[in-house]
Amino acid sequence: MAPPRRGTACRAPADTPFDPAVVAPRLLAWYGAHGRDLPWRHTRDPYRIWLSEIMLQQTTVAAVIPYYQRFLDAFPTLVALAAAPPARVIELWAGLGYYSRARNLQRTAQLVVEHYAGRFPETVEELTALPGIGRSTAGAIVAIAFDRPAPILDGNVRRVLVRLFAVADDPRSTAAERQLWGWAVALTAPDRPHDYAQAIMDLGATVCTPSTPACPACPLADFCQARQLGLERQLPRVRARKVLPVRRQVAVLVERDGACLARPRPPQGFLGGLWELPVADLRQDEQPLTAAARLAAELGLAGQPTLVGQLKHAYSHFTLELALVRVPVAGGRAAEGLWHWLAPIQLLETPLHGAHRKALAQFLASAPAGRR
Ligand code: SF4
Repeated sequence: MAPPRRGTACRAPADTPFDPAVVAPRLLAWYGAHGRDLPWRHTRDPYRIWLSEIMLQQTTVAAVIPYYQRFLDAFPTLVALAAAPPARVIELWAGLGYYSRARNLQRTAQLVVEHYAGRFPETVEELTALPGIGRSTAGAIVAIAFDRPAPILDGNVRRVLVRLFAVADDPRSTAAERQLWGWAVALTAPDRPHDYAQAIMDLGATVCTPSTPACPACPLADFCQARQLGLERQLPRVRARKVLPVRRQVAVLVERDGACLARPRPPQGFLGGLWELPVADLRQDEQPLTAAARLAAELGLAGQPTLVGQLKHAYSHFTLELALVRVPVAGGRAAEGLWHWLAPIQLLETPLHGAHRKALAQFLASAPAGRR
């Protein structure tokens, strides 16, 4: 399908409570004075814009900036990313979470090299066919990199539209979703899509914030249905949180001669390619010290286990309760398979996954003086 042409007018849904054409000029004027200066705003390179959009999913701007810069230092071009060792990509992503994003990023780079001769596709349809690129991310790339009208509906924009149109239903319901996309299309500026996309994102990030929207400073306050109804703090409606299952594990610091045991996880699947300490699920009613001794024995090692502490770590689909046990060993088998003996400082340089990085910090803090 041909990309939308400049100047293509977007039709308003029938139930728009004000003329959508009034929104973009207000927003663009505000953006001219208050838009954020961000590293990815100094480029029209679709590779860099795509990278920033993927990194910003589920992650704050402040957290993303150093990752974005390090990633581009290592992989300045799409071709460099496509050809990189996957372990290096994961290493540079470690700490940002949602690691499937990093794997999809490299897979998409490889597909663009393979099927588009390294030139980023320019339409929403082509972009959404690539791994990890949804409709909103595709819209952001088309609008920001190619300056063509394309609606976006990321978390910030969704919140602005829910309030602007006072959507009282669950904004993730199918009906609300359809309506929100309709409004996103209707409001998108046909003549300055590059600026409009960034302006509405910025409004959500800096003015129409989740708990304390700064309505008096908002350029859209005159139109905002939630404000007129006094509902700006009640919307979007918060969905009842699902109670997540709890997974109980023990992570073991197996120590020998100042080194500890760790390995990379398999490249595919949950936390794929990241590093981990020896870890085991706790069996029903099993105590962490018993599980740690069992784990050490499976590794061909034996030592006196000591409980160091415990921590909780939240994943999107479960909560991890992790007991931390130290097992100093002498002798035993050398590291086999993917296991490595590493000094703690070396281990900190690996892409150790988040929960085990926290665990290592606790282990190091609790180490007897002279062994830290
Ligand atoms: S007036 Fe308030 S609630 Fe409405 S869009 Fe602006 S900041 Fe958000």
